[in-house]
Amino acid sequence: MEPVREQILNLQHISYTYHTLQGETLALSDISFSLKKGEFAAIVGPSGCGKSTLLSLICGLLPCTEGQIKINGKPLKESTTNVGYMLQHDELFEWRTIYNNVILGLEVQHALTARTKQRAHELLDIYGLGDFKNARPSELSGGMRQRAALIRTLVLEPELLLLDEPFSALDYQTRLQVGDDIGQIIRNEGKSALLVTHDLSEAISLADRVIVLSNRPATIKQTIPLLFHLEHDTPLNRRSAPEFKNYFNLIWKELNEDEPNVKD
Ligand code: ADP
Ligand code: MG
Repeated sequence: MEPVREQILNLQHISYTYHTLQGETLALSDISFSLKKGEFAAIVGPSGCGKSTLLSLICGLLPCTEGQIKINGKPLKESTTNVGYMLQHDELFEWRTIYNNVILGLEVQHALTARTKQRAHELLDIYGLGDFKNARPSELSGGMRQRAALIRTLVLEPELLLLDEPFSALDYQTRLQVGDDIGQIIRNEGKSALLVTHDLSEAISLADRVIVLSNRPATIKQTIPLLFHLEHDTPLNRRSAPEFKNYFNLIWKELNEDEPNVKD
């Protein structure tokens, strides 16, 4: 039997309402789920349904209107767990070298030590950016930039990674490659991760589980565990496995099932 793994993240009955001059917008309604340590879950849902709002709540940028979020068993406010956040745009600074971009977060957190510097070098070397430490971001391909952004997040040693459509700014070919690449790095490093995407293939090739959200206000329509019978369970191998198409059809159907479309 699989050993019982601790929960790194637990959401109970989360709702969130935006208040603006135009009125109130209910973005999330009664969302509950949890993530175990080392687990990689993908969240898919229509554009504007509340995916980014959900990640903002989990990293504490927005307070829940209702419900409770626990990280490592503690309420979010009391949590000391390091949470890493990676966005669609890599947000690398052109006036800094790749190495100096990678250590930026460490500088801000006053955590730049001989050990963390060495870790930054190590990660850059392991993940193919060793020759680009002194390059400027504009000298790198989109995929390499995204890798540098991930390394900048990883040197802060987050236990939980939140990824908000991190590949969607890349062209299709690059997105496939970089998605697979970054997915493997996260697995290698043994991180727990929550990936928000509107790309079903990306979700199916990378995650242990797909959480399907409805139109706004987002509710959980279905949670689908992904099981592949592969000797080497890699994103690339998953894409050509027979299960892939079945999962794709299942999730596609779930996403597009008729439901009342709540308008503003
Ligand atoms: P997604 O990431 O799934 O595309 P978001 O979480 O960004 O969706 O937004 C969900 C909904 O919340 C949007 O449809 C929008 O109407 C509303 N919303 C998002 N940000 C704000 C904001 N700052 N003020 C008011 N409403 C917002
Ligand atoms: Mg979004």
